This record gives sequence, structure tokens and C-alpha cells, in this order.
Amino acid sequence: MSALSPEAIQELQKRVQNVAVPGDAPFDALRTAWNLCVQQRPAFIALPSTSEEVAECVRFARQHGLGVAVQATGHGVGRPADDALLILTRNLNGVTVDATAQTAHIEAGVRWGSVLKAAQQHRLAPLLGSSMGVGAVGYTLGGGMGWLARKYGLACDHVLRFEAVNAQGEIVTASADEHADLFWALRGGGGANYALVTAMDIRLFPVTEVYGGSLLYPAEMAKAVFQQFREWAATLPDEMTASVLIMHYPDSLELPDMVRGRACAVVRGCFTGEPSEGQALIDEWRSWQTPEFDLFGAMPFMGAAAISHDPPGPLAGHSNGGFLTDLSDETIDIILAHSLPQDGPPPLVKAEVHLQGGAIARVPRDAMAVSHRDQPLLLSLIYSTPTDDTYEAAVQHSADFLTALSPHSSGAAYANFLSGEEQIARVNGLFEPEKYARLQAVKAAYDPDNVFRYGFGVPGQPAG
Ligand SMILES: Cc1cc2nc3c(=O)[nH]c(=O)nc-3n(C[C@H](O)[C@H](O)[C@H](O)COP(=O)(O)OP(=O)(O)OC[C@H]3O[C@@H](n4cnc5c(N)ncnc54)[C@H](O)[C@@H]3O)c2cc1C
Repeated sequence: MSALSPEAIQELQKRVQNVAVPGDAPFDALRTAWNLCVQQRPAFIALPSTSEEVAECVRFARQHGLGVAVQATGHGVGRPADDALLILTRNLNGVTVDATAQTAHIEAGVRWGSVLKAAQQHRLAPLLGSSMGVGAVGYTLGGGMGWLARKYGLACDHVLRFEAVNAQGEIVTASADEHADLFWALRGGGGANYALVTAMDIRLFPVTEVYGGSLLYPAEMAKAVFQQFREWAATLPDEMTASVLIMHYPDSLELPDMVRGRACAVVRGCFTGEPSEGQALIDEWRSWQTPEFDLFGAMPFMGAAAISHDPPGPLAGHSNGGFLTDLSDETIDIILAHSLPQDGPPPLVKAEVHLQGGAIARVPRDAMAVSHRDQPLLLSLIYSTPTDDTYEAAVQHSADFLTALSPHSSGAAYANFLSGEEQIARVNGLFEPEKYARLQAVKAAYDPDNVFRYGFGVPGQPAG
């Protein structure tokens, strides 16, 4: 692609207030994603403040033969935005709550923490994930599996409408009544592939207090903890969303002495319902074996980030994973053989098995693009990869880990828990076959020229 002339850029700057080009002072900071492993060199960057400005950007990119990449926070970049017009949505930052309708209108650049804060003022909550810093729209486009999922479902199950700019640079609405095929695709079909979402309306839920937290057991007890989780999970009501994991706590000064530099077997959970009922479920663990650290208790949902303690970042990381069909003793042995420390500190931060089921599994299969609702368990692997060596080790380790687990996995994966390169390589595994074909049809109808070519993309489209 040849560089754009200064006149062309000036033409855009007349129509869009915030545009940065290479050499501008903030350009390098702007092109930096939350995940520091992402290295991207966009042709230029626009920070629109309105849907009209977004539409101007898309029309300009078309006119000049550029692809359009979209980024809210950079937690889940698909393809790096090399040579693209990179649209940062951070100036689309409005959130309004309709307390009577129990809905929220959320603009594209808003992070979950802001939505939760606005909703809790009305004793309501969104279906956010483990981290307040993740973008609400990007998370929802990938599905959205959070601590209320077994009770209320995935975030994408509760979108009422999207406002978007299509690949022709037109402002459109996607809902059950308008552009229903686009609405179907945007609910779990992945980010930045079919249209650029400028805002979404979602349902909120009456959650203010939960019984949540984590129990830490020594790594030596890991097999027994995973086996106990399997038995316990079989009895759980939908109100409890839970996971079991091996966690490697970094050797960092911010952590208490007792966990710093150690691996632990951890049980995490969030119960929405009567706190005493949640406590009774966790008491089963306490009477099974006293945990080394017991961080469970009644808590305001505003503090739900404390359940997972995700790092605020930015960080360099690699993530991988997939759905599991069982938590048999053999599956547990494979997980532990790959996740407990061996020679020196592994780049693995955690291997977490999330319990699915409940409301996640009750939505009809063809309702929307998000797939694999019937899978019982979801594995998430997170690695810390500050150097090229650790990154390569992580990619290899996660591939070996998943190969070893293949007898206990359908091969299917969940887009939000994969790094960008994994999303692209495993796009086949992200969707059920009939949905994959339907997504191709939506892509062909809405973006035949592949303007939005930096998401993870359905096959049949030229790579970005
Ligand atoms: C610390 C951490 C915790 C997480 N916790 C969870 C969790 O609990 N549950 C879960 O399901 N996922 C979780 N995730 C994954 C997260 O949901 C995905 O990485 C998600 O894609 C991030 O969205 P973003 O907008 O913040 O990131 P971005 O990298 O900015 O965007 C992600 C993708 O969405 C596209 N996109 C963003 N905005 C738009 C838009 N307006 N229109 C069209 N496309 C757009 C981007 O192009 C990109 O492909 C977590 C990730 C991290 C790093």
C-alpha cells in the first residue's frame, strides 16, 4: 500500500476531529494495545467521537483502499492493524441506564467497570466478565462469559440492539427487526468482521450482592481438589458460577508473602441468590478440607473483580484453551502434568476449568452465532510472555497441552479465551459448522470487499 498524501489526511481531518499519523507525538502510545505482545503499525489512527465520524472514517478508508481495524482496549486484538486505518473507540464513551426498563445503552469505547458503576446506582448489574478493564462491546461480540453466566447466560444473549457502521460507511441498526442476519452474526460471531459497532443496548439484572471469592489449597492437594470440584459441580444450582484452576502467583512484591511465587489449586465462584445459600455451598468445601486461604464471603457485586484478581495491565500475554468433555481422573492428570511447576518458573499463569451449563445451555442452538453452548467445561490457559523466548515457549506449551487433552475435548474453542493468532488459526473450531456457513454468508452480504479484515474473520475471505 502506498502512503497517503498529506492532502488526503488533511481532507479526513476536516471531517474527523482526532486523527494521528506516524510521527505525531501520541502515535506510538495510541497504537499500543493492552496486550503488549501485539505489535501493530497502522497507516494512521482515528479517534471518532460520534457515529457520523466513524462513518466518515470507513468511507475514507474505502476510497483509499485501506482496511479498517477497530480497537476499544486492545485486550483481544485479532490481526494486528498493520497498514490499516485503526479506529480507536475510546471517545465513544457514553453509558446511560434506563432503570425502569432495566437496560443500558453503552457506546463502543466503554469498559465494563463504568457500566457496572452506572448500573449499580439503580441496583442493577450487566453480565460483565472477570475484569473491569475489558471493553463491553468487544467482550459481547465474542460471546461474553462472566460470573453470572450460569444464572443469566452469556452477555450476547441479552443484547437488544446494536448501532453500527457498515462496510459502506452507512449507519445501521441491527436488532431482531432490522438487519436480523447482522444481529445474529454480531452476537458471538466475533469482533470487527461484519460491521463496526458504535453502541449497544443490553438488559441488566437485579444483582447487588453475591457470595463470591476463592479458596486456595496447596498445589500438593491439586488432584483431590479437582476431583472434589467434579463431585461438587454435579450438584450445583444455576445461581453458582464456578471454576477450578492451577494458579501460579508471580514473585511480586504486591502479593502477600504466603502466595508470592507459589502455585496453588484454587476454587473460584460467585453465587447470586441468598448469601446464606451460597455460604452453605462453600461450607461443603470447608468441611471437606480446610483451605489454606479462604477468600469467600458476601460481597457487593461492585467488588466482583476481586473474585479473579485479574491484573489491571497492560501486560504481555498469550492465551489459549478449548472446551472439555469431561473432568475424569485422566483429564485431571493431564491438566496437572502440564500446569504444575516442573523445571523453573513456567510462563503459565493459570489453567482454569470453568463450569458451563445452566442458562448458558438453555438458549436454542440457532438463536445466534455464538457456539458450543452444550459443552460442559471450558478450559482457559493464560501465559505471561514478556520476552520472545517466553512467548514461543507459551505457544508451544499450550499447543502440547491441548494435544494431550484432545481425547477429552471436542476441539471446539471459545473466541474470547484465545489470543488473536489462535483465533485465526482455530476459526474452524469457534463455530458449529452450519453457523460457520451462515457467518460466511453474512460476511459476503455486508462486507464483500473485506474492509473489516482485521478481526479473526471467517474463512473464504482474504487475510488482512
Ligand atoms: C484480563 C482479561 C480478562 C478477561 N476476562 C474475560 C471474561 O471473564 N470473560 C470473557 O468472555 N472474556 C474475557 N476476556 C477476553 C475479552 O472479553 C476479549 O479479549 C475481548 O475481545 C476484549 O474486548 P476489548 O474491546 O476490550 O478488546 P479489543 O482488543 O479492543 O477488541 C477485541 C476484538 O473486538 C473487536 N472490537 C472491539 N470493539 C469493536 C467494535 N466497536 N465494533 C466491532 N468490533 C470491535 C476488535 O477489533 C477485536 O477484534 C478477558 C481478557 C483479559 C485480557
